[in-house]
Amino acid sequence: MRPERVSEIIRAAYADKRNSLYEHEAKELCGLFGLPVTKGSVVNSEDKAIEAARKIGFPVVLKIVSPQILHKSDVGGVIINLTTEQEVRTGYNKILSNVKEKRPDAKVEGIFVQEMAPSSTEVIVGATKDPTFGFTVMFGIGGIFVEILKDVSFRLVPITRPDAIDMIHEIKSYKILEGARGMPKADESALVDTLLSTSNMLVECPEIKELDMNPVLIYEKGAKVVDARIILEEPKA
Ligand code: ADP
Ligand code: MG
Repeated sequence: MRPERVSEIIRAAYADKRNSLYEHEAKELCGLFGLPVTKGSVVNSEDKAIEAARKIGFPVVLKIVSPQILHKSDVGGVIINLTTEQEVRTGYNKILSNVKEKRPDAKVEGIFVQEMAPSSTEVIVGATKDPTFGFTVMFGIGGIFVEILKDVSFRLVPITRPDAIDMIHEIKSYKILEGARGMPKADESALVDTLLSTSNMLVECPEIKELDMNPVLIYEKGAKVVDARIILEEPKA
């Protein structure tokens, strides 16, 4: 059984004629399945952005919220590491002017103020759906390992704990997670839990067509999902 709030989030997107969730909606949904997402809120003014930042605690990250913008940093829609109220004010306006310049057609719904996660090894957890076989969950280490070397592992959903462990161990760049070259040793059990929660979310949410948590930051203790994108199936008539 899934929480009623999951259906509310999905229904609201469909009612809005969107087939993708905003990042804050995708993160709320992920959070309902136990995934460790960053906290934050969407605001519509500089003053509210500052209020939100105070509540979250500095430093914060600001991101554009727009139905037309799925790749936010491509349009200057992400500013990280804002450490003061003045930086939040400047950053807020900078994002709006970047988006106005690069995507004048985009409708701006607000600015997502969120907790800044300390930098660490970035991993990617994603999922795609095949009409016959259903969801496949994907795991890899961010940056060149995924983009250039395509060093990723896949499993059909649902996955078991041993499947999740295998997925993590079988990528060629696994040594990075073990702490090679001065990288912090990754909390493997947090990664396993992330993969299992993701699998469970996919089982419970047939409305999802595509999922992309990119990146998930992995620490010596714990993990943090700092970006989440969810594409929905066409609504049923
Ligand atoms: P995009 O839509 O372009 O993928 P992201 O939300 O992934 O935008 O942000 C771009 C980059 O900024 C991320 O890959 C990550 O390195 C960094 N980042 C984003 N959000 C946070 C956060 N809350 N804490 C720390 N770093 C972040
Ligand atoms: Mg991203």
